[in-house]
Amino acid sequence: MDNNFDVVIIGSGPGGYVCAIRCAQLGLKTACVESRKTLGGTCLNVGCIPSKSLLNLSEQYNKAQKEFNNLGIEVSNIKLNLSKMMSNKNKSVLELTKGVEFLFKKNKITHLKGRGSIVSKNTVAVIDDSGKKLSYKTKNIVISTGSVPSSLPTMKIDEEIIVSSTGALSFNSVPKELVIIGGGYIGLEMGSVWKRLGSNVMIIEFLDSIIPEMDKDISVELLKILKKQGINFMLDSEVTTVSVVKNQAVVDFTNNKSAKRERIQCDKVLVAVGRKPNVDHNIVKLGIKLDEQKKIVVNKKFETSIKNIYAIGDVIKGPMLAHKAEEEGIAVAELIVGQAGHVNHNVIPAIIYTAPEVASVGRTENQLKKENIKYKIGKFPFLANPRAKVNNEFDGFVKIIADEKTDKILGVHMIGPHVSEMIAELALAMEFGASSEDIARTIHAHPTYTEAIKEAAMAVDKRPIHF
Ligand SMILES: Cc1cc2nc3c(=O)[nH]c(=O)nc-3n(C[C@H](O)[C@H](O)[C@H](O)COP(=O)(O)OP(=O)(O)OC[C@H]3O[C@@H](n4cnc5c(N)ncnc54)[C@H](O)[C@@H]3O)c2cc1C
Repeated sequence: MDNNFDVVIIGSGPGGYVCAIRCAQLGLKTACVESRKTLGGTCLNVGCIPSKSLLNLSEQYNKAQKEFNNLGIEVSNIKLNLSKMMSNKNKSVLELTKGVEFLFKKNKITHLKGRGSIVSKNTVAVIDDSGKKLSYKTKNIVISTGSVPSSLPTMKIDEEIIVSSTGALSFNSVPKELVIIGGGYIGLEMGSVWKRLGSNVMIIEFLDSIIPEMDKDISVELLKILKKQGINFMLDSEVTTVSVVKNQAVVDFTNNKSAKRERIQCDKVLVAVGRKPNVDHNIVKLGIKLDEQKKIVVNKKFETSIKNIYAIGDVIKGPMLAHKAEEEGIAVAELIVGQAGHVNHNVIPAIIYTAPEVASVGRTENQLKKENIKYKIGKFPFLANPRAKVNNEFDGFVKIIADEKTDKILGVHMIGPHVSEMIAELALAMEFGASSEDIARTIHAHPTYTEAIKEAAMAVDKRPIHF
C-alpha cells in the first residue's frame, strides 16, 4: 500500500467518516483511522443509534401494554423479550456500521485499523491490535476522536453495576431499581427506556431543574410529564459516593438546600453526568492548544494551532451532537481544497427523544434576557391541534420567540409528538432569516402536527385561530 495521503482523519464517528467521504468526493487521497472494531464512532455504536432503537422499541411495548386496550385494540399476555429487543437493536447498529464500511469502499477511502497518533505535522502512526506500528505521510490531518463518558471522582464505572450510557444500552435483564445520576438528555432518555420496560427509576440531579440548557418552559413541562409517567426525581441533590455491596449499589446523596443526607440501594446506577473530549494529550507537546475544558482550540476554519492539522466534532467547542460533528466534517473537507466550507453554529437543532419529544433551535428566553434583546413570544398547545387530538398525543406545545422589532425568529422550543422531525422546518426558516410572519403565512397541510407551528407563529402576533 502507498503510505502517502492528502488527508488522514483520526476517528470514524459522524465527524470523521462524513469528513472522509466529502474529502474523497473532492478528489483527495483519504485515509481514516479507527481503533474501534466497527466504523461510525460513538453515535452509531454506543450513542444515538442504539439509544433511539431502544427508545422506539420500549415506547411500542409501553403503548401495547398501557394504551392499546383503551383504544379498542384488545391485546392480552403482552410479554417483554429483552434479549430479542437487544438483538433487534444490535442488528440495526451492525447494519449501519457496515453501511459506513460500504461507503468507504465506494469512495475509495483507506480504512486504517488501529489507534492513530500524530507523530509530526505530516506523519500519523497507527498501532493495530497485534501491536504492529505503521507510519503514514499526509498533507493534512483531521482530529475527530470524539468524546467519552465523564464520571465523578467518588465512584468507579464497572459497566456491570455502576454503568455509563454504554452499559445502560445493554443490560441483560431489567433492573428492579435504577438510579441515574444526571438529569441531562442521556439520563432522561435512558431513564425513559428502563421505566417503560419495568424498572423503578430515580434520577438525581445536582441542579434544581432538568435539562438546564433548554428553555425554562420546556424543562418545567418535561419534568411534569416524566413525573406523571412514574419517573422519580431528586433535584438539587449531590451524589457524594456510590459503592457496591453484595452486588447492589449504595448511593449516598445530600440535598443542597437542606443538607439532609440520604442513602438508597439499587440494582444499577447509571452515571450520566456528561461527556468529556477524547484528546491524546501528546498533541500538546506538538504545540496544539487546549482550552480550559481540555477541548482542542480551533479557529473559524477548524485549524488547530498547527495550520494543516484540523479538529472537528466533540473534541472542539460547541454542543456534543452528531449533526454538528457531521457539518464540521463537511466544512473542513471543503476548506482543505480551498472552498468556502462553513458551519452556522447559531442554528444547531437539539433534540431529546423522550415521549413526548423535545426539540429546540436558536436562543432561549434566558439567553435573550442576558443579551438584552427584546422579544415577543407565540405559544400553541398540541391539545388544540386536531392531528394530536385524534392520535391521543396532546401533551406539549410549540413556542416561537421572535425579535420584538424585526419579527425575525430568534429561537423555537417545542415539546410534543414528532417534534424531532418538525424542527427542521424551523432550522431552515432561521437559516433564511425568516420572520414569524413568514411562517404564519405559509400553508401547512391539514391535519398535521406542523399546523401547531403555523399557529404558534400566528400567536406571536396574538392571532392564533384554534386557541
Ligand atoms: C447514549 C448517547 C446518545 C446520544 N444520542 C445522540 C442523539 O440522539 N443525537 C445526537 O446528535 N447526538 C447524540 N449523541 C452524541 C453523539 O454520539 C456525538 O456527539 C457524536 O458521536 C460525536 O461525533 P464525533 O465524530 O465527534 O466523535 P465520536 O462519535 O465519539 O467518534 C470518535 C471515534 O474516534 C475513535 N478514536 C478515538 N481516538 C482514536 C485514535 N487515537 N485512533 C483511532 N480512532 C480513535 C473512537 O473509537 C470513535 O469511534 C449521543 C451520545 C450518547 C453517548
